[in-house]
Formats: sequence, C-alpha cells, structure tokens
Amino acid sequence: MSDIRDYDVVVVGGGPAGSTTAALLAKKGRNVMLLERERFPRYHIGESMITGVIPAMEALGLTDELDKRFQPKHGISLVWGLDSEPWRASFDQTGLYDHSWHVVRSEFDELLLNTARGFGVHVEEQAHVTAVLSDENGTVTGVTYRRGGETYHVTSRFVVDASGQARAISRKLTEVSWQEDLRNVAIWNYFTPYEPLSEGRQGGDILVESVKTGGWLWGIPVTEDKLSLGHVLPAALVAEAGAQGLSHQELFDRAVENSEVAKTMIANGAPVDRLRTARDWSHVCKSFHGPGWLSVGDAAGFIDPLFSQGVWLGTSGAWMAARALEAALKNPADTERALDRYELVYRVLYDEFLSFIRFFYDPNKLREIYLERAQQDVWHPDGNLKIGFITLISGIKALPNITGFDPLGTDTPKTVRM
Ligand SMILES: Cc1cc2nc3c(=O)[nH]c(=O)nc-3n(C[C@H](O)[C@H](O)[C@H](O)COP(=O)(O)OP(=O)(O)OC[C@H]3O[C@@H](n4cnc5c(N)ncnc54)[C@H](O)[C@@H]3O)c2cc1C
Repeated sequence: MSDIRDYDVVVVGGGPAGSTTAALLAKKGRNVMLLERERFPRYHIGESMITGVIPAMEALGLTDELDKRFQPKHGISLVWGLDSEPWRASFDQTGLYDHSWHVVRSEFDELLLNTARGFGVHVEEQAHVTAVLSDENGTVTGVTYRRGGETYHVTSRFVVDASGQARAISRKLTEVSWQEDLRNVAIWNYFTPYEPLSEGRQGGDILVESVKTGGWLWGIPVTEDKLSLGHVLPAALVAEAGAQGLSHQELFDRAVENSEVAKTMIANGAPVDRLRTARDWSHVCKSFHGPGWLSVGDAAGFIDPLFSQGVWLGTSGAWMAARALEAALKNPADTERALDRYELVYRVLYDEFLSFIRFFYDPNKLREIYLERAQQDVWHPDGNLKIGFITLISGIKALPNITGFDPLGTDTPKTVRM
C-alpha cells in the first residue's frame, strides 16, 4: 500500500535528538512528522545528564517536570588516576546551573516524544523506516516505512536521521569511522537497595571509578532505591576473557570486587534486572548532511559515555539542526551554507569532547594532570583547576557555540587541539 504525504521535515527516530529537533521545528510552525520504530515507553541506556542539556530542556518547557519526576544530579565523584583518593567536581562550580538529572530513560524519552506531539509534530510509533526516497539528482526527498504490515511513503523537504546507533539513513548515504582506541563493551545491571555516596549533595553524584582489571564502572542513582551499575571495558579484553571461558557476569562481578567505592554502594543490594550488554564503539560519520538530509545525535556521532555527554550532544545537535533547517526552509538559497555551518559547529563539539575523553581515558596520570589539561581549554580568571574541568565536562563551556548558534554566521567556533 502506498500513502503519499508531504512535510517540511521528516525525523527518523524518537530518542532525545529526534524529539528535540522535531519539537523545536514544530514550535516554529513547521509541518513535521516523526517516525519511531518502537512503541514508547521503551527501555534505553543513557541515564545521567550533564547540565549542558538544560537550555534545550528550557526551550521545551520541561525543567519543572524533570525536577518533579527525576533524581537531581549535582556533580561527578571520581576514583581515577594515580592518586587513589576519591575526588569530585560539582556543577555549581560553573556558576550557571547547580543540578541536572538522573533519569529513567523510558520515561524521559516518552516525555520528550509527547512534548513533540504537544508542539504539533505528527508522531507515528511502531513505524520502521526501511528506505530513503531520492530524486534523479540524488537529493533525498523522503522515506519509506513499514507499519502494521503495510508500507508507506512520505515526502519532505528534509529528512533528519535521528535513529541513534542504527544510523538508518546515514548508513546509506555516508561512511562512518570507528575510534579504534575506544572499541568498548558495556555490561550493566540495576541494584536495590543501595548506599548513596554520601548524605548530602554528593549523594546525587554519578560515580565514575576506574578498576585495576581494566576499564571503569559507573554508578548512577536512577531512583531513590535503584542504582544503575555498569562496567565499560575494551572489546579486546572481553574477547580475551571469553576465550578463557569468563562470562559477562563474571567480568562484571570481577570489576565490582576490584572496585573501592562501587562495591560498598551495593554491599547490601541485589540485582533487580537481567544483566545487559551493549557494544559501545565510539564513531563519527564522514558527513553530517547532504542534499535533502542531515543527521543528529548518535546517528551522526557517538562518544564513549565516560562523562555522560550523549544526550547533551544529541539535544545540542538538535538545537542547531532545528535552526539550520529553519533557515534553509525559509530561504532555500541558504541551505548549503546553513547545513555546512551546522556540521562545522557540531563537529567542534564532538571533537572537543572526544579529545578530552581520550586524554582522560588513561588512568595512570595524576589528578592535577587531568585538571590542567581541561584548564588549557577553559580559561578561568581565578585559575581554579576544577572549574576548568567541570565547565568542560558539564557541556557549559560549549554552550555559547550552541545557544548562540547562527546558521548563517561566519565567525570561527573555537577549535581544539587533537
Ligand atoms: C553503555 C552506555 C551508557 C551511556 N550512558 C549515558 C549517560 O549516562 N548519559 C548520557 O547522556 N548518554 C549516555 N549514553 C549515550 C546515550 O544513550 C545516547 O547518546 C543517546 O541516547 C542518543 O540519543 P539519540 O536520540 O541520538 O538516539 P537514541 O536515544 O538511540 O534514539 C534513537 C531512536 O531511533 C529509533 N530508530 C532506530 N532505527 C529506526 C528506524 N529504522 N526507523 C524508525 N526509528 C528508528 C530507535 O528505536 C530509538 O528510539 C550511553 C550510551 C551507552 C552505550
């Protein structure tokens, strides 16, 4: 069956990047369709937010609701580096926002998708995009999707690929490069009850702890009684351990046993879910846009979740994508310029985070060395090293490039050393 409809923009994928792009365009009065393969609420990993997400959440009118529904996150507590003392950095040191949230992603993503609906986006769930439509010049003109056993075609001025790691559209239109040094695997489960890191504000931190056996652990207090505890380690180590007969469960247990802080948090807890695993390979697409399409969020690029930056990167990309598409829709002659600029600025965000994560990934440095490296990128008048670090890893440093994004601008966004 074929059902042709026409939109300004069709967004593929209803995760944070897709819902935010769609909602912001609809808010501007654009005619937007969003196609999501699953039926929400659906499970998703990626539960801890950095404060850089806040401007996008404010634009969607969601900050009060997020405060009501989710756990506050005040900063990051680390067991990392040669110096074995745990240390922390607090969001309020940036002087801008004092907390973000740890979220249950099924609820968070559903809230965002319903917000997009509220702004007038035509959302179809259980709609699996299977093909790209293009004209004789190769310009993307829409998509084909399957829903309830039927096939549909929909046309639009632009298609946005926000399909996450599936890269449903971009895998057909551009190449991807894998960051070979960050070919990791994640293994995680949920524990209840758990011991918070502390009584006060620190109790709302994410725990990031490197482990002697290789890789690191996250501890995220997703609800008052449930801790998300995950282990990220090199895929090569998992393969090696597998060859020796070690299961994912055994690898996970070994890392927890070898931890100093994570194990104390679940000393009286028990797993309440099944052990989950995911490929966690950082990657970036060669192009973030082409004639008639652009990609945003994990579909454009994904970086190891060490600093919980994925949703920030996706919603920041969405903010800029919506502005670039709005400029292109308003004046088609500006299309190439606006989408080129989108890609330029988005790539700077990606590269900057990747560069620092690469530096940080080596746990054999002194704390001061990590902090000094962050400080080189973020100058602060009082020279407080921790301010540079938290400003960078909270996404606050990059905010002017995002909130001030001008698709027709000409200034050079700050680039980073690689
Ligand atoms: C182990 C791990 C831990 C992480 N921890 C964090 C964290 O603590 N904090 C954080 O911010 N980020 C974290 N991330 C990253 C975070 O999960 C992602 O960056 C974020 O979800 C990206 O959002 P997105 O909207 O681009 O993609 P997604 O959230 O993946 O959404 C994509 C959507 O597209 C849909 N879709 C896919 N294919 C199709 C198709 N063909 N047709 C229609 N729909 C389709 C999917 O069903 C999905 O709903 C983590 C990632 C991993 C792997």
